[in-house]
Amino acid sequence: MTTGCWIRLLTSSLLGLTVMVAASGGDDFQSQLELAAELNLTAPWQESQAILDQIEPALDQATPDQFATFHLLKTRNLALAGHYVEGLELTRQLLEHPIPSEHRLSALIRGANLGLELRRFEDAFDYLYQSLVLEPEVDHPEQTTYVYSLAAEIFRTVGKVDRSRDYAHRSVEVAREHDHVRAECVARMHLAAAYQAADHLTAAREHFRSALERCRQANDPVFVAIAEFGLGDTLRRKGRLDEAEAHLNRAQAQHRGSGYRSGEAETLVSLAKLYRATDRSRRAEEILADLIDQFADAERWDFLETTHHLLGRIASEHGDYVQALEHTLKQIDAREHFLDVQRAHQLAYLEIEFETRFQDQELVLLREQHRLSQLQEQTRTQQRRLHTLAYASGGLLTVCLILLLVHTHRDRRHYQRLSGLDSLTGLNNHTRFFDTAHRMVQEAERNNTPLVLVMGDIDHFKQVNDAHGHLVGDEALRQVARILREVFGGRGDIGRIGGEEFAVCLPGETINETRQLLEELRRKIRQVDCGVDCQPLTMSFGLTPHQPGESLKRLRQRADEALYRAKNAGRDAVIIAPTGQSADTARTR
Ligand code: GH3
Ligand code: MG
Ligand code: MG
Repeated sequence: MTTGCWIRLLTSSLLGLTVMVAASGGDDFQSQLELAAELNLTAPWQESQAILDQIEPALDQATPDQFATFHLLKTRNLALAGHYVEGLELTRQLLEHPIPSEHRLSALIRGANLGLELRRFEDAFDYLYQSLVLEPEVDHPEQTTYVYSLAAEIFRTVGKVDRSRDYAHRSVEVAREHDHVRAECVARMHLAAAYQAADHLTAAREHFRSALERCRQANDPVFVAIAEFGLGDTLRRKGRLDEAEAHLNRAQAQHRGSGYRSGEAETLVSLAKLYRATDRSRRAEEILADLIDQFADAERWDFLETTHHLLGRIASEHGDYVQALEHTLKQIDAREHFLDVQRAHQLAYLEIEFETRFQDQELVLLREQHRLSQLQEQTRTQQRRLHTLAYASGGLLTVCLILLLVHTHRDRRHYQRLSGLDSLTGLNNHTRFFDTAHRMVQEAERNNTPLVLVMGDIDHFKQVNDAHGHLVGDEALRQVARILREVFGGRGDIGRIGGEEFAVCLPGETINETRQLLEELRRKIRQVDCGVDCQPLTMSFGLTPHQPGESLKRLRQRADEALYRAKNAGRDAVIIAPTGQSADTARTR
């Protein structure tokens, strides 16, 4: 079996699509169009063409549906009549019109078929490719099966048997799934042909059988004839010659009945082979001799080669070597033409394959670009997150630093405060006391307000330590400090300025008020518990009021002198330093 038959098989397969939906181009036009479509399926092509010729003048009022239907029917008739060039041209023109997608797909399939028929393989592959692209858009399972069948046909033509079988299988599946008998008939024949091309004759025979069954159900004589031919040809190749002959005879008669000359010619070649194999060479010779012109005219080089080959063998068998040589030379010539065609097939296939790969690569590239932009977007998002995180961390860090600073500041102030405090008594230490006193003196000076400085020293404290130990001494010092705070707290600056020496700076206080407070202090100090058999604790004080213009240093000096004098006077005494140059002794007991 060769390709031509299958091309026409597909050409025929489009009939199902051309039975049109009702449209508004005039009832008469529509009904005539439907009749033409019906006849196109069931009668020789001339009958439907006669109707199309009748209604053609009214074509300018046709709807896009009717317009497309009309042309699809006409192109099929042109194909059946063998006017492939006109058929292809009409298909090309039809595709230039804005026709519904479903019809566009039909026209593309038709164009691919006619391209194959004319061996214009670039056209064929181009239309196939467009069909495969458009097919998913057209939600029409029957059309889908035809597109796959077309692909099966074209790939088989270029020797890609596996791909052909794949497409044919897909076509059968879709047809079965949607219960499209005609489509299944076509698909199964392509499947059978793919198996036949791969020399899997048993599988081919089975698929031709089921194809024949479906094609009979579809009631299309062209399909039935092609299926009969396929089955007969396969059986012949398997050596089942009787069965084969019956099928081939039926195929020939049916092809002749439908006016399908090429189909009949191909069937006759198979029959001639069968006759030769069954000692009917003369009959075979007659048949083949009649076909030479037809194949030559149609440039069917493969059939022409086969025909000359068979005729050469028959002539040789009959001892007519001149005739045999003549046929052999023509066979070689046809073979060369056929190889040219094969090369064109391959070239066109490779071109389309290159284009497809190129498109695939483009698709891959586009996908890569898309992936890249997604990655870039992800990167940007991550960067934004990082920035946000950085800002947040920065903010957090700043807050932490501020807190740390505040904390440190507080600590510093705390330690500063602590550093200004005497660790045993909690009173201001020497430095802090005199710093504070300095500011108080300045303040008093500025405001011209009174201020009294008191210096005190525990009497014979060494003895307390000696008699009771340092721990008792320490406790006595803490008690004295507590009493100082009790008496002078809130009134001024109190400090432990030496081991057992204390000082109080009292802004706003007068000597008299201070003396009263000191009396209270002395009374309380006497009550300090400094161990068993401890003498009551006493202190000596020197005090002095601040005089205008007097520095702290001078004030302190005068208070010190008063204290010294209190000690010298026998201790447990309060001496007020005299104002002016000399100290005024005011001893209190
Ligand atoms: P005076 O009446 O002349 O002041 O006699 P005093 O013993 O108090 O004076 P002196 O200067 O001779 O001795 C001071 C003593 O104070 C000596 C020392 O042991 C004691 N002292 C100083 N600092 C501390 C301290 O922090 N803790 C204790 N327990 N004793 C201290
Ligand atoms: Mg002392
Ligand atoms: Mg002392």
